[in-house]
Amino acid sequence: MLAFELYELFGYVPRPELLRCDECEKKDEGIWDVLGYYVPRMEIVVLCESKIEGEIGELRERLKKFGLDLNERETWLALRELVRLHEHSHALIHVCDFYGFSAPNREWYVNLSPSVNEPLTEFVAWSILQHIKDMVLMRVFEAVDAKSPTFYHNWKEIKDILVSKGVKESDQFEWVPPMIKLAREEEWRTFQEFKRGVEEHWDEISKMHNEEWTPTWVAWKVRK
Ligand SMILES: [Zn+2]
Repeated sequence: MLAFELYELFGYVPRPELLRCDECEKKDEGIWDVLGYYVPRMEIVVLCESKIEGEIGELRERLKKFGLDLNERETWLALRELVRLHEHSHALIHVCDFYGFSAPNREWYVNLSPSVNEPLTEFVAWSILQHIKDMVLMRVFEAVDAKSPTFYHNWKEIKDILVSKGVKESDQFEWVPPMIKLAREEEWRTFQEFKRGVEEHWDEISKMHNEEWTPTWVAWKVRK
């Protein structure tokens, strides 16, 4: 469902999903990557079904504080779709060539620091939710995001840079391909380095957005 947006907007071919119902323990990651994970070596997305189910009760309570009263099934579906979106966004960053715009060398991803990878992944997911304007999914995203480690929250700094350049939140998905291209071009050791890179390469990013990256959203605009 949500992962389909990555195909429609960016030409990402969804990688296979593996469902695990047994113990699926990952101790060192943020909430999204405990409920699922992406395996770059095999290019597969894994969903930890029992972990997702185990999160529902507490999430429902937190959502009530956001003014959202979902039943168990609705909460499960929203959470599961958002985990899928997060993990497929990792895969998008790793393998999507955006119709030849930024053909990746698959090896590059092993050197991508989590301090850049996680905020960029969250930014991709958030920009999709802004684009489709689904307020329920957005509230669930915010509730889960609030539980993730603080360095995941640096996605908001990418959003803020784009806002400062006059890009509306609902249009920020258009900047995903040039941002990912920049992430692939150099080895950024920290998020702050990447953020400085975005500012320093802004003219280049802007040119990529305005002149070079067109195929999918020309197709998208025609469909709309
Ligand atoms: Zn992640």
